[in-house]
Amino acid sequence: MDGIGSEDGSVQVEAGAQAEGRVLAGTAVVPGVGYGPTIRPGERPRRPARGADLPAEDRPAEKQRFLDAADAVSSRLLARANEVKGAGAEVLRATAGLATDRGWLGAATALVDAGAPAESAATDATDQFAAVFTKLGGLMAERVTDLKDIRDRVIAELRGMPEPGVPTPTEPSVLVARDLAPADTAVLDPTLVVAIATTLGGPTGHTSIIARQLGIPCVVGVAGLDDIDSGAQVLVDGSAGTVEVDPEPGRARSAVARAEEVRQRTASWTGPGRTRDGHPVAVLANVQDGPGARAAAEGSAAAGVGLFRTELAFLDRDAEPGVEEQTRIYREVFDAFPEGKVVVRTLDAGSDKPMRFAATGDEPNPALGVRGYRIAADHPGLLERQLDAIASAARESTATVLVMAPMIATVAEAAEFAAAARARGLVPGVMVEVPAAALLADRILEHVDFLSIGTNDLTQYTMAADRMSAPLAGLTDPWQPAVLALVARTAADGARAGKGVGVCGEAAADPLLACVLAGLGVTSLSMAASAVAATGSALAAVDLDQCRRAAQAALDAADPATARERAAEILR
Ligand code: PEP
Ligand code: MG
Repeated sequence: MDGIGSEDGSVQVEAGAQAEGRVLAGTAVVPGVGYGPTIRPGERPRRPARGADLPAEDRPAEKQRFLDAADAVSSRLLARANEVKGAGAEVLRATAGLATDRGWLGAATALVDAGAPAESAATDATDQFAAVFTKLGGLMAERVTDLKDIRDRVIAELRGMPEPGVPTPTEPSVLVARDLAPADTAVLDPTLVVAIATTLGGPTGHTSIIARQLGIPCVVGVAGLDDIDSGAQVLVDGSAGTVEVDPEPGRARSAVARAEEVRQRTASWTGPGRTRDGHPVAVLANVQDGPGARAAAEGSAAAGVGLFRTELAFLDRDAEPGVEEQTRIYREVFDAFPEGKVVVRTLDAGSDKPMRFAATGDEPNPALGVRGYRIAADHPGLLERQLDAIASAARESTATVLVMAPMIATVAEAAEFAAAARARGLVPGVMVEVPAAALLADRILEHVDFLSIGTNDLTQYTMAADRMSAPLAGLTDPWQPAVLALVARTAADGARAGKGVGVCGEAAADPLLACVLAGLGVTSLSMAASAVAATGSALAAVDLDQCRRAAQAALDAADPATARERAAEILR
């Protein structure tokens, strides 16, 4: 939110055209492409100068003036909430609630009682609360923007100024701001605001939530936006997370048209997963609990669950949940897909997912330590009790339940796991996350009924690069031809054995890469439910032969960028 948060009160930065021709990068939040002239939120009130204390006799009236202003702001926001629907209305109501928050009003009126004029009191009370919210972090920190917005509206009201906010554009425009107040974003008209780019804000902030709901392409956390002239033409790509200043107009317009085609295709995709010429590739969802599974079943066309990360259901537990409780939790997930298949992964504890009841002690290098299937040896009975619970939930459910172990590195581990699962009537598979498992997939397949490639870890271990490391993101790219070569080898072994080989890492959520994976012979793709339609519709737009040619081109490339480019040329 521009405004008195920047202490000089300046809003419009007219820094000239330094940004022209440049591509600025940020966090991609809402996919889609928007092109048009920039608009910025209107000026916010300057920070009031703190004058002398008010005489004691004027303080009650000043307090009333402040309370009336806060009340007027709250009522206006509530009235606006009644004009919009869904998350927009909720956000407006929550913001209106801040203007009548007892704590904030109490802090401000106490300051007036002590002699502060209303405007200073509103500002100082906001500073106090903002400091606390910022310290708390997370969702509370994101409320600082809302609180500063309320402060600005109350001050504008006290001064008799028009309410600050986003101007109504006269032509389709791109809204550019330091940050946006939820009260502004909630009432945006998507036909006039075709994209949003902000300097601040995160993927879970209010701007992102509302942009998502309104379907406005959005990128947040973009450095350099202040240098863009107001009115300059920009192209915002909400999938790539980029803002291009003054792009070539013809190219920008075709990017918009292409994105619109993809949007329509995605919105109308209802499954089942298959290429245009009918080659089946199951499109499934990754979930972590019952509510997530139900949301995937109701909100996406996923045919089932390709990865149920059971450890995520227990991350907050000190003690291992009993078999009965586990059974209940698994059953909830199975019941979300009574006709579908659900692949349950046994606890993948350790490394980036430490669990208190399956702790592995201090290790110098946890990603290469006792994690995933390896914890079974240190915790006798843990795996067996989980398999018992999965088997009992499976017996009570109509879903087709399969079970797989994470982080398998040897044929012996796969054989041991398969025997334990089969002894309980379960269909066993293992994850391929370690290059050793990909290289010996043929021998592992002698023991299990399916494989599921975890490209997140397979990439980390193939490239010897921590998946959490931002500076190594270029290495932990699943388009690395070395990773694709291991996927190809595993899929080919699966085809020879007549057994399914899925992918359940983030790679499956990249529509272009999903087509390449299908071309490599992968038989199912599992991803966050929100990515299901984009992947499913991308597959439906291409033929298997195109996927195979794109896969070969990617395998033949020397680096991920070339792999991506060559595949895109064939698939688009
Ligand atoms: C993977 O490694 O790709 C995977 C799906 O497992 P996780 O991300 O849970 O480690
Ligand atoms: Mg993994």
